[in-house]
Amino acid sequence: MTLLDGKKTSEVIQDEIAAEVAQIKANGGKTPHLAAVLVGNDGGSVTYVNNKVLTCERIGFGSSLIRYEDTVTEEELLNKIKELNEDEGVDGFIVQLPLPKHINSNKVIEAIDPKKDVDGFHPTNVGRMVAGLPAYLPATPAGILELLKRYNIETLGKHCVVIGRSNIVGTPMSILMSKCSYPGESTVTICHRNTVNLAHHTRQADILIVAVGKPGLVTADMVKEGAVVIDVGTTRVPDASRKSGFRLRGDVDFENVAEKCSYITPVPGGVGPLTIAMLMMNTLKAAKKEVYS
Ligand code: NAD
Repeated sequence: MTLLDGKKTSEVIQDEIAAEVAQIKANGGKTPHLAAVLVGNDGGSVTYVNNKVLTCERIGFGSSLIRYEDTVTEEELLNKIKELNEDEGVDGFIVQLPLPKHINSNKVIEAIDPKKDVDGFHPTNVGRMVAGLPAYLPATPAGILELLKRYNIETLGKHCVVIGRSNIVGTPMSILMSKCSYPGESTVTICHRNTVNLAHHTRQADILIVAVGKPGLVTADMVKEGAVVIDVGTTRVPDASRKSGFRLRGDVDFENVAEKCSYITPVPGGVGPLTIAMLMMNTLKAAKKEVYS
């Protein structure tokens, strides 16, 4: 069994980006700039956004963090998005999800200029991804593709089973794995909360990608011998032995599943770190006007 080391792979990607940024600056080019909008004080969201800002600093990007209380109105948020769309200093920006219930997330996402939508959530980028046109790919599925590529994992003709159909992970992942380019060319099954006999489907998977948020959902009896298992799940579970009072658990029963796999991602240290690296990659592409000229 080979562990798919997302932390190490993310560091390699970040070093590559940092080298390119240094080159751009040396040639007198503009420093890529990522802005992040954060609403409220949810522990997970604050940590994610802080990590994104710290990563920007580490690789030589400019960054700005715009924070609002969770009482912010939809109008205020939409005005800020308009401002960021027009700000030539900002190459790309993200609005950290989830947003409070009184704000319509779809409206907010649709207000972002697709050229600056480095999360790849705007319907224009989603449509372009489906059509095989240049687009910002959502960071988590893009990170999984990058991991498969960097570990030279064969995907052509394989049966890929994706569990979870969210707009940010499961659905784009299933589309990308079926595309006619590497890593892709797989036959894809997508499972969700109403799938009958989940184990029947997962047992057929050469590549199993799990994005649900239910710790331990995938047990050893659900996995084929030699499968590649990618665990996207990150659920905070109480752990009194930790200073934070919690630890992260994936959707896969790692200890028992790992011995059956050819490759598997750990949680933490698997998919998570790659998500940030791919957001940085999208921001670099935005600065270089690589997706939209
Ligand atoms: P979500 O929470 O929006 O949806 C969960 C999906 O799981 C749904 O499509 C639902 O149909 C499916 N589901 C629920 N119960 C199921 C069951 N018993 N059997 C089969 N399918 C079931 O999904 P999300 O936003 O993609 O998040 C999923 C997990 O991935 C969460 O733990 C989240 O924290 C994590 N996540 C991690 C990263 C990362 O960078 N590592 C990024 C995004 C999401």
